[in-house]
Amino acid sequence: MLTTGYVCDPRYRNHEVPPGHPERPERITALLDLMRRYARPGIAAIAPRAATVEEIAANHDRRYVDRVRATAGKPYSVFDPDTTAYAESYETALLAAGGLLELIDHVVGGKVDNGFAMIRPPGHHAEADRAMGFCFFNNIAIGARYLRAAHGLDRILIVDWDVHHGNGTQRSFYADKSVLYLSLHQYPHYPGTGAVNEAGVADGLGYTVNIPLPGGYGDDEYATAFHRIVDPVSRQFAPQFVLISAGFDAHRSDPLSQMRLSDDGFAAMTRSLLAVARDHAGGKCVAVLEGGYDLDALPQAVSRVLDELGGENLDAGTPQGAGAEAALDAVTRIHKRFWQL
Ligand SMILES: [Zn+2]
Repeated sequence: MLTTGYVCDPRYRNHEVPPGHPERPERITALLDLMRRYARPGIAAIAPRAATVEEIAANHDRRYVDRVRATAGKPYSVFDPDTTAYAESYETALLAAGGLLELIDHVVGGKVDNGFAMIRPPGHHAEADRAMGFCFFNNIAIGARYLRAAHGLDRILIVDWDVHHGNGTQRSFYADKSVLYLSLHQYPHYPGTGAVNEAGVADGLGYTVNIPLPGGYGDDEYATAFHRIVDPVSRQFAPQFVLISAGFDAHRSDPLSQMRLSDDGFAAMTRSLLAVARDHAGGKCVAVLEGGYDLDALPQAVSRVLDELGGENLDAGTPQGAGAEAALDAVTRIHKRFWQL
């Protein structure tokens, strides 16, 4: 049984949102409730810390960080139609990124085998100088920068299975071959990026892999995508650390997408990536919460990911899957120049 550290703190509820907004504090309440009753050997709660401005600025422009910092204590500050900072949003965003960094330290230091950062506000839409799509600071990109700077790693895999394309993460590493960004997302859909031919530039060419999928796909099609693209590309990259932008809005119950993944689908994706981590990265793998807006489905799916991170099912392998041929053929056409597919 592998040990899994997790970060989930009541203070993550302190970032307020307008009435009716889907990315709400109750998401953390649902996960705190889950962790009160979730039990398996090797689960350890880890207290978050606040990220420093320097750690945030490794991925964001200083002037933008200052703009977000200036919202602290103010009633509200609108950044885009979906993204508003309230009095405690800045502090909560620092605690979100810092929670991931603390978890990374625990995994790299061998205190736990892997981890799950149950944090908010989420991050993968945040660009270097821009808040958008419920995100202020790009937690997972800050985590990857930290693995480079503080831990000296130079091959970091980010797999983003949130139903939305992680435009911010893609932009952060678009010309950077030390971070392989691989995204499965509904397309066309918010934020509009993530076309199959967006594959990186300069040194980063081939190190951005987009798998845009039509709405309505579920466990079978995602399993095929893992078999044909995610698993082979990840293994050829041979990461030293695996980060997962773990959104749960591709779940069949989620109100923000048309995808049809079940809890089994999230379990299978976790198992596949944990096997990559085991074979290449000494097992080092951290999932980072992004979307997921159905408050019943979210904790249920998270609990299945936590089960899989225990590693007991690793030898079961991942299902073969079926379907999605046209979408995956398009990915192969673009990426066979860079990877054996
Ligand atoms: Zn999303």
